[in-house]
Amino acid sequence: MGGRPASARLERETEEMIGLVGSRPNAVDPKNKEWGEFFPISMSAFCYNETIAQDYYPITKEEALIKGWKWKDADSKEYQTQTYEVPERIEDVSDSIVNEALACSHCKKNFRITKSELSFYRRKSLPIPKKCPDCRHFERMNLRNPRQLWARNCAKCGIEIQTTYSPDRPEIVYCGDCYLKDIY
Ligand SMILES: [Zn+2]
Ligand SMILES: [Zn+2]
Repeated sequence: MGGRPASARLERETEEMIGLVGSRPNAVDPKNKEWGEFFPISMSAFCYNETIAQDYYPITKEEALIKGWKWKDADSKEYQTQTYEVPERIEDVSDSIVNEALACSHCKKNFRITKSELSFYRRKSLPIPKKCPDCRHFERMNLRNPRQLWARNCAKCGIEIQTTYSPDRPEIVYCGDCYLKDIY
């Protein structure tokens, strides 16, 4: 118990609790310009690779640990084999599939089909997915253009534009004006 006033001590304890002290020395010092910034990553309850940050700015485990960020290792759990042979046609799928354990055809992780998913697939006449939700998410992410801009020329009026379509891609890319004129 030193000579610090009780209020200062309380403030210090709060800082320690939320992790501002220790991992980030002087983080509450206004001089380091962290006031007004978003919460620091050291306060995140999630590992870097559990968040959408890993989708947009992928890094390796080593890179994360060097920065002092948390990393979630792959689930080492033994997965069980699928308990239900899923028919190819959605019409042939039994209601009881919602009680079964399915196994991802790619990563072997177990997943389930919920009642509302089943009714959605039936309504849309879609087959039951063979891959787990994570693998499906990564497949969708890979369909997106990279977060990078290239300088190109509009395929119609020739004006210089910036686009996420790299110049070696086969798609025809218009500027905003030409695109809108063409569509509407
Ligand atoms: Zn999977
Ligand atoms: Zn144009």
